[in-house]
Amino acid sequence: MLSTEQKKTHSGQDYLEKEILEQGERSPNQSLFPLTAKINNHNCLEIGGCDLRTLIKQFGSPLYVLDEATLRSACRQYREAFKRHYQGPSQVIYASKAWSCLAIASIVASEGLGFDVVSGGELYTTLKTLEKMGRTSEQIAQQIYFHGNNKSLAELKLAIEVNCTIVVDNWFELETLAQLGNQTASMSIPILVRLAPGIECHTHEYIRTGHLDSKFGFDLYQLDTVFKYISQQSCFDCRGLHAHIGSQIFEEQPHQDLGEVMVELLQKAQSYELVLQELNIGGGLGIRYMKDDNPPSIEQWVKGVSRSVMKACDSYQFPYPKLIAEPGRSLVGSACVTGYTIGSRKEIPQLRTYIAVDGGMSDNPRPITYKSLYCLVIANRMLEPCTETVTIAGKHCESGDILIKNTQLPQTQPGDILVVMGTGAYNYSMASNYNRLPRPAAVLVKDGEANLVIKRETYDDLIRQDHLPERLLS
Ligand code: PLP
Repeated sequence: MLSTEQKKTHSGQDYLEKEILEQGERSPNQSLFPLTAKINNHNCLEIGGCDLRTLIKQFGSPLYVLDEATLRSACRQYREAFKRHYQGPSQVIYASKAWSCLAIASIVASEGLGFDVVSGGELYTTLKTLEKMGRTSEQIAQQIYFHGNNKSLAELKLAIEVNCTIVVDNWFELETLAQLGNQTASMSIPILVRLAPGIECHTHEYIRTGHLDSKFGFDLYQLDTVFKYISQQSCFDCRGLHAHIGSQIFEEQPHQDLGEVMVELLQKAQSYELVLQELNIGGGLGIRYMKDDNPPSIEQWVKGVSRSVMKACDSYQFPYPKLIAEPGRSLVGSACVTGYTIGSRKEIPQLRTYIAVDGGMSDNPRPITYKSLYCLVIANRMLEPCTETVTIAGKHCESGDILIKNTQLPQTQPGDILVVMGTGAYNYSMASNYNRLPRPAAVLVKDGEANLVIKRETYDDLIRQDHLPERLLS
């Protein structure tokens, strides 16, 4: 049964038009649309000067459309805010788990950011990008931090070969690294120690506890033993501490508390003759997926964290460490939208109308995994009033494959272009071939030009890794 709220005509598209006009002044993470979004004379959504309908015609559907200006703006806002508000050295590194590919890595690198990688694959992608950009091995080593709670021996060896900083997560890894390091007399492995700081964040609330139920990092009570062990191994160049407390966080206090806790621990390391000069506070700043979401701006977040770290340092008379932040979502999340083509419609009288699109949980697993919410528009009907409440279904064989429930839209037709906003983070990177759907293409848009940055998979790609043993052929 439709509620009165759902039945009434809503001016959703008008509201979105207003958003587009206003958002030029916003931090990218506070914008529902990419910063260059416009409604053109054909009543159609344009991003980076490219009409969404034309893009879909040219590159196919579904399509990830990545706005270069928004991504660059977010990178710059982080870097410039640290320069303005933190009086020590700082580094912003891109959490490439949000979306790792050559084009994004190269944009991020050209903006002066480093990289957080969590697997051999992410490391390889980053390496290839930086090599193609002509970076020296020394520059590459300085730019990469390798995370993960169960790095394989091969991954650790690759990290040592690259000489990037390894963020050590647990005893098994620490001891394995010591074994590898001590095989060569002069080896010096740059490391950070990851800890579970006792600050737990859920999206809109947080708790501080002595013990944290997390698979990542050393617990605080282990730190003395860890520091002692590291100080006894000549192969380690221990540079500092790392912690990450969660993702899509709107509150500022947890990260500020984290800064304070970590400065105290940097200081504690001195009693083991460890001079720790790096403090990595992880990522986690949230983005605006829905109209009512209200994350702090990048500037505000950086300012708060910088102040708390400097204040804690001042109170311990500890020199300002190199402050590292590793955002993912707030860099790339708002820079991308996904365009789909509308197909079938199913009306269940008095209950619900489903509109199906040509993608779903395989290109965006966040709704089915986390119940994540998104805003959407019909790109070719931007100024038409919303007259019905519908549920957007994906095309997968799963009843739960619903992209968005009960959203208000103008009257649509098959062939219309439905655009979901804020799909830059953890969409392509978590995409699958479920039901053997080829993964969509991604295009980078800027000043009216669109460049393919990830090709659409073909059916041949889907069977490329299959192997049919001879005996099954008869
Ligand atoms: N650093 C670490 C260790 C993470 O696990 C994550 C994401 O989970 C990030 C950084 C990036 O977080 P976000 O994308 O929320 O900024």
